[in-house]
Amino acid sequence: MSTSEQEALRLDAADPGHRDLFDVPPAQGGDCPEVAYFAGNSLGLRPKATRDELLEDLDAWAALGVEGHLDATRPWLPYHELLTAPAARLVGALPSETVVMNSLTVNLHLLMVSFYRPTRSRHRIVIEDTAFPSDSYAVRSQVRFHGYDAEDAVIRLRPRPGEDSLRTADVVEQLGGDVALVLLGGVNYLTGELMDIPTITKAGHLAGAVVGWDLAHAAGNVPLALHDWGVDFAAWCSYKYLNSGPGALAGAFVHERHLGGDLPRFEGWWSTEAATRFEMTPESRPPTTADAWQVSNPPIFSMSPVRTSLEIFDKIGMDVLRERSVRLTAYLEKLLAGRDVLTPADPARRGAQLSLRVQGAGEVSRRLRFEYGVIADAREPDVLRLAPVPLYSTYHDCWRAASALSEVLAR
Ligand SMILES: *Cc1c(COP(=O)(O)O)cnc(C)c1O
Repeated sequence: MSTSEQEALRLDAADPGHRDLFDVPPAQGGDCPEVAYFAGNSLGLRPKATRDELLEDLDAWAALGVEGHLDATRPWLPYHELLTAPAARLVGALPSETVVMNSLTVNLHLLMVSFYRPTRSRHRIVIEDTAFPSDSYAVRSQVRFHGYDAEDAVIRLRPRPGEDSLRTADVVEQLGGDVALVLLGGVNYLTGELMDIPTITKAGHLAGAVVGWDLAHAAGNVPLALHDWGVDFAAWCSYKYLNSGPGALAGAFVHERHLGGDLPRFEGWWSTEAATRFEMTPESRPPTTADAWQVSNPPIFSMSPVRTSLEIFDKIGMDVLRERSVRLTAYLEKLLAGRDVLTPADPARRGAQLSLRVQGAGEVSRRLRFEYGVIADAREPDVLRLAPVPLYSTYHDCWRAASALSEVLAR
């Protein structure tokens, strides 16, 4: 065993993480029985508790039928409320500002119904040029829905020539009087850059814009304080760092100052207050919480894994995870020294992900997987993303990734 591998094992003994709470898939190649999993920014691993707790909820249906709405151990009618407080803690929000529902892009649309109110003189939307395509399609379709031209209305922020990440001051400079909405990723999916959410939010407000954040790569990755930062709205998915399973239910945040007001919303029977929902009146009475943005009755068996996962975050604490994340990512960075890393070097400007510029990224990631049991994520043509996830990744995983990458790239 090399001294560098011994060092990795020593670090794991001193700073062990919580791998034992998760099912780690078996490796298809390499010398280790389990994969070194670096794709938790794409799909997080399954917590061991998820299976049993989901089966409990599933069996309540068999045992109780419709009575499960009230009589299940975790009754279905108020089930979504079990998710609200832990989700709120995770993003630094009040429970009244938070709701878990739908999927991410659907939530972005529902929130833009309320928060993208273009006028002729102010109808532009600011996104990153490297925005996740779903966000780009969503804002372009919203612009067209309101009768404007997407080519003209959507401002795409680009880094300076020769740079890979956006500078906060450059972002702020783009926020002119014609901007209706700023909608950026809290952590960019491609580069791993963590944006300065409070500064950009403040600047957007000074410019007279509404400021929303897509937290797909930020929730469960970095500490957030949406309420204190004055963010207008936000949405995030739960299948990346939140380990709630493929296509898992998403979260939404609406700042307290917008609750109970007269913002337009699309409504359904879950938009009305719970206390009188079953009076079946023709007009809704929306609660003065983010629950007013709900439309349909929620899928219980999809909420169950989110509840299990949020409990893990609650138990361990995002701040503790962030500290281990900073150590683990710094260690991986050290092992990758000399490679072309797009992600900011400042730990305060990134989360758990390092993105490398690698020629033939797709082929490299296939070989990492089948020859070394290292699961990385390729974005063609030339970006390889590695996310050491503080809950379950190890220093030894980092060592495996770095040494496998050296061997693959040397050949
Ligand atoms: C993962 C991700 C999505 C995915 O959208 P879904 O609606 O969950 O399919 C959207 N936006 C960003 C920024 C993402 O990272």
